Amino acid sequence: MSEGDKDGPRPRRATEPGSRPTPAGERARRELSGIAASPGVGIGRAYVIDRRHFHVPRREIEPAEADEELARFGLGLGRTHAQLEAIKNRLPHGEHRQILEAQQMMLRDPDLRQRVEALIRNESISAEWAVDRVATEIRETLERADDEYFAERSSDIGFLAERVLLHMGDVDDGELSPPPGSVVIAHDLSPADTAQLARAQVVGIVTGVGGQTSHSAIMARSLEIPAVVGVGDILGLVQSDDMVVVDAIDGVVLVRPGTEELDRWQHVRDRYDVFEERVQREHGLPAIAQDGTHIVLRANVALDAEVPSSLFHGAEGVGLFRTEFIFMDREIPPTEDEHYRHAKAVLRKLAPYPVVFRTFDLGSDKPTDLVRYGEREHNPAMGLRSLRLALRERSMFLAQVRGLLRAAVHGPLRIMLPLVSGISELRAALAVIDEARAQLADEGVAHAQTVPIGIMVEMPSAAIVADVLARHVDFMSIGTNDLIQYTLAIDRTNDDVSYLYRPLHPAILRLIHRVSAAGKAAGISVSLCGEMAADPRYTWVLVGLGVRELSMHPSAIPVIKNIIRSSTLSDMEALAREVLEVEDAEDAERRVLEIMQTRFPEHLLHGGGQRFVNEGPLRRPQEGGG
Ligand code: PEP
Ligand code: MG
Repeated sequence: MSEGDKDGPRPRRATEPGSRPTPAGERARRELSGIAASPGVGIGRAYVIDRRHFHVPRREIEPAEADEELARFGLGLGRTHAQLEAIKNRLPHGEHRQILEAQQMMLRDPDLRQRVEALIRNESISAEWAVDRVATEIRETLERADDEYFAERSSDIGFLAERVLLHMGDVDDGELSPPPGSVVIAHDLSPADTAQLARAQVVGIVTGVGGQTSHSAIMARSLEIPAVVGVGDILGLVQSDDMVVVDAIDGVVLVRPGTEELDRWQHVRDRYDVFEERVQREHGLPAIAQDGTHIVLRANVALDAEVPSSLFHGAEGVGLFRTEFIFMDREIPPTEDEHYRHAKAVLRKLAPYPVVFRTFDLGSDKPTDLVRYGEREHNPAMGLRSLRLALRERSMFLAQVRGLLRAAVHGPLRIMLPLVSGISELRAALAVIDEARAQLADEGVAHAQTVPIGIMVEMPSAAIVADVLARHVDFMSIGTNDLIQYTLAIDRTNDDVSYLYRPLHPAILRLIHRVSAAGKAAGISVSLCGEMAADPRYTWVLVGLGVRELSMHPSAIPVIKNIIRSSTLSDMEALAREVLEVEDAEDAERRVLEIMQTRFPEHLLHGGGQRFVNEGPLRRPQEGGG
């Protein structure tokens, strides 16, 4: 919101088709990239929500008018609250309702009322001006925190203030009314906006800002509207009524595509929708192959907000909870109690399914301000990261382990140690866990006596001695992201060498095979939780190599499940045997792609909304997939 206009609140929501002159250059086809936040393909005419011209009047008042201004402010709050209530009641129960409830709580905050009242009475300014000033102050405070969560709260305040302003005068109620089949284009959307779009049969959402965890992304996912967020200056490039393709598989937005291109995309969308309906029908069923082999599919989760999506997509628990995020953006490490409360809340949400909490894997690609060894390291990926760091920062590690052991009384919790290199490091980590147990017992603090302890196998050394490690743990999980990085000596974050990132390299295949055989011999489960698990091209090979549990980004689960349910173990094992024999990654890739493309063309096109490491030829229609 900006100050300095006498005309009163003037939101310009949908720009009328053709309401602006159109310079010739502006009408060209445009392709924009952003973040695929809610998977799918949407095609429709643009409905542009443009709030850039929202002005707030700066009006001084007589002291006698203060009561009237306060009454108008109260009216704005009440109407906004009622509008959120009405929107909420139109929605099914779940996360999106909770977001709107949280916004209603912000409206009821006595501090907000007191600050606005103080400005109206003490500085003799209009209610609109006072609301805008208080909202701006709160937003600035939140933005200074430089944290994604607070940035989201800041945009909540902006949207709420805008709604209160709209409701204070005789203006319309701020309802959005995109025609059915529209693609909504906005700089940002509030949860209430997104909820209104559910009724409007919108086919796609594109926003200029936002990430995977922004409210508009979460809401779009729960309403299953394809969405691409964070595309930049979208309002400057799209006009109402423009034809728009939202490719929320790869995170691309096509504005004003040509006729042929549009035809191709309509075909892709139809295929996607038919396929999606088919895989979602199996949502509650287990991933049992046609010969009866059960492959457990679990979710990789880093943020609590992803938990509902794991259940929605049919995950049988969490196979990798990346706890590093609890350590980010803070000056002191989380306390034992924080770990305890966090893990307990996650277990509650996922009951009765198990949750595998990985102890912190900080450093290198997951930097933290809490410990700064990385700054003096030439090669942080091989430096003091992950478990090595935990063993150095023993009190931080002990606090986490104690919190997890305590939380384990509330549900099936498992502890997983990252980046184990070999037996002595494993022993050192197990000693910390024993120490935590002994301390809790001495102190008489409730904790679980037996918590399964597992390791990530993500270093070549660990994979090679997996038979030894397997004797000392309850489960193993192969982390192919790091295993590939360390085996092939390619930095997983360096685009210049990403062409060398070959999951089907014979060395990787042999290591995966070796680890699953070691697990089988020791009678413990072996899962795989790297990005490979989410890639439909690799499902047959991984199961064929002996992996019986796959953990992945939640939205990838339905597609992988459908592949498993349509396959036999003998076919999968035959492919694995074949690729184990080949000498070169390229031969393995050719063979795997040939089989998987023939058997599962739609599955490969989808990839569950997951970006592939090496793009397969079916990804984009102009590349020959259509
Ligand atoms: C891995 O390395 O495969 C893994 C799952 O862990 P992360 O991606 O968090 O390093
Ligand atoms: Mg890793």
